[in-house]
Amino acid sequence: MEYLRNEMKMEFLALSANEGFARVAVGAFVAGLNPTVDELADIKTAVSEAVTNCIIHGYEQKEGSIWLSCSIEGRQVEITVTDTGKGIRDIEQAREPLFTTKPELERSGMGFAFMEAFMDEVDVVSEPRKGTSVIMRKTIGEG
Ligand code: ATP
Ligand code: MG
Repeated sequence: MEYLRNEMKMEFLALSANEGFARVAVGAFVAGLNPTVDELADIKTAVSEAVTNCIIHGYEQKEGSIWLSCSIEGRQVEITVTDTGKGIRDIEQAREPLFTTKPELERSGMGFAFMEAFMDEVDVVSEPRKGTSVIMRKTIGEG
């Protein structure tokens, strides 16, 4: 099944238990595009990294909500993951491979690097004390 345009939106609590839910939900939603096993794994990993960041950094493991939307246009998938947590002061620095503000939690600072490697495009919009949105795009079936 292929859609000219399709979209889904969901909201869930910022709990690590919901990382798996978010991965699977997006995976199921994009399944209609017949992605390869690798494409599907890439999308799921990128979603996991973005959601984990909301939980660990955005809300620092305290209460909060995460909004995830996924749209399909032709063969392009666009995923937006948003929190209203602490935000990012220096986005460019945050995106550098190996940069982390939580080395004590054994974070390796590779989340954004993975999102960039696995998706075609990654945009980050963030404001301190307001929150963060990560917008990721990938075209399925480009081989
Ligand atoms: P890893 O993802 O390898 O476990 P990490 O989460 O620290 O480590 P990245 O995912 O690349 O690495 O994120 C880099 C930094 O960007 C984080 O350490 C954090 O300071 C900041 N950051 C990322 N996402 C958010 C967010 N949603 N809210 C606030 N800060 C964030
Ligand atoms: Mg991370």
